[in-house]
Amino acid sequence: MPGCGKHLTYDATVGTDTYVAEAAHIKGEKSIAPRYDASMSDVDRNGIANLIYFCTHDHTIIDKVEADWPVERLVKIKTEHETKVRETMIEAFADVAFPELASAVAWVATQPPSGGATSFEVVPPDEKIRKNDLTNASRHIIAAGLVSQATVAGYVEAETQLDSDFPDKLKSGFLAEYYALKHKGHKGDELFELMCAFAVRGLKKQGDRTAGLAVLVYLFEICDVFEK
Ligand SMILES: [Zn+2]
Repeated sequence: MPGCGKHLTYDATVGTDTYVAEAAHIKGEKSIAPRYDASMSDVDRNGIANLIYFCTHDHTIIDKVEADWPVERLVKIKTEHETKVRETMIEAFADVAFPELASAVAWVATQPPSGGATSFEVVPPDEKIRKNDLTNASRHIIAAGLVSQATVAGYVEAETQLDSDFPDKLKSGFLAEYYALKHKGHKGDELFELMCAFAVRGLKKQGDRTAGLAVLVYLFEICDVFEK
């Protein structure tokens, strides 16, 4: 909500971070709800495009004072926020440098080599996005992450000088998680989102988390993490 600025997640000092806000329906969930649209299917009603994330205070206001908060106004708020987030994300990826990458992939030091040959084939991202059944949210992260790819490639090259198994260990760490998630039935955007969570696990600083995502996008682009 413009002007609100409240943190909608809580960063836990111990344990797992948590969401502390509410997914509000733009077009109401039930027939008595504000902005209800009878012509909408339940799937669309509860789909991402019809949800907007607000603090409890703002959620209460938009539902109690419906006249002030028509569908068009909420959609505009959501669209503008998403645009701002995308721009910020691109700037953040552009700022990724070796120290953040070192934090993001520190786990590679204890990763055993896969024992197999590492193939780093170049596959056009657009084609991979399509084959992996990814839609807008994932696409935006991948597109933004491409900004940092030369830096990540340079980092991987530098690390490979020190440890020739580095690319193999980096890749096999991600692949192990990818196959485990796929085996559990995850796919498409949900699978990508879980891989993003994996890429930033244990990282607290925003710069390190962005670096973790930059590495994921790098692997997505250049090798067979994800379907070719
Ligand atoms: Zn708020």
